[in-house]
Amino acid sequence: MRLPEWIKVKASGMHETKTLLRSRRLSTVCEEARCPNKGFCFSKPTATFMILGDCCTRDCGFCSVSSGVPSCTDADEPERVAEAAEELGLKYVVITSVTRDDLPDGGASQFAETIMAVKKRLPHSKVEVLTPDFEGDIGALQIVLNAEPDVFNHNMETVKRLYSRVRPQADYERSLLVLQNARRLAPDIKTKSGFMLGLGEGMDEVLELLKDLRSAGCCFLTIGQYLRPTKNNLPVVEYIKPEVFEEIKENALAMGFEFVASGPLVRSSMNAEEMYWRSDV
Ligand code: SF4
Repeated sequence: MRLPEWIKVKASGMHETKTLLRSRRLSTVCEEARCPNKGFCFSKPTATFMILGDCCTRDCGFCSVSSGVPSCTDADEPERVAEAAEELGLKYVVITSVTRDDLPDGGASQFAETIMAVKKRLPHSKVEVLTPDFEGDIGALQIVLNAEPDVFNHNMETVKRLYSRVRPQADYERSLLVLQNARRLAPDIKTKSGFMLGLGEGMDEVLELLKDLRSAGCCFLTIGQYLRPTKNNLPVVEYIKPEVFEEIKENALAMGFEFVASGPLVRSSMNAEEMYWRSDV
């Protein structure tokens, strides 16, 4: 399907940030997931660091990150992320990862090490983590929360009915429980989630998802248009009009979300810093 006129991507000023990331042997989800906002964010500069390698143990239908048998974890990675964040002058650092179901703690200790390395080197910067579900392992979740990120993010990605097609190795209720447990175990840490539109979901299903997220105590929300990264990924079922994103945003705010970013090009970490500071932290 042709891209509608409201999805126009500007690529600019990426070179310096890319060069720095390569020089530090660091991956970003911005590049691995072919995010349309890469040019905008890299030119700020900001980027979402992807730790634990670039090979995922899962194979979600919407994601272009390579799947397979990952390499072993890299002990120097947390410090390299902290150094790059300092060199980029980041006041708000976002850390995500592939899913590592092959690791006993799902990679939780690498998240904790990276949060602590960033906070030690940049004591005045805020840290947001966008984590996998750790297969529902509450011990792994506690390891991440003990490192005191400022925002804990775990994406729902889509509505319940579409899980088997969109994220077959994930579980809707389990992901909700990750957010609920994060809120219960660390009430001072803001929780955040996000999902895509355009994969065949209905408005009633979206409203159901919003209700479930609010029941799980979720504070921040991002909603964006699914864009097909490669021919191997799920087709776009529909390009949702900007006014529909606005309507869903109004519903979400009425349900009590503290901050909602909703629009065709909105992504989990895009303008994450603004979202944090504009909420009542
Ligand atoms: S868990 Fe799914 S979305 Fe996340 S990196 Fe792996 S394949 Fe991509």
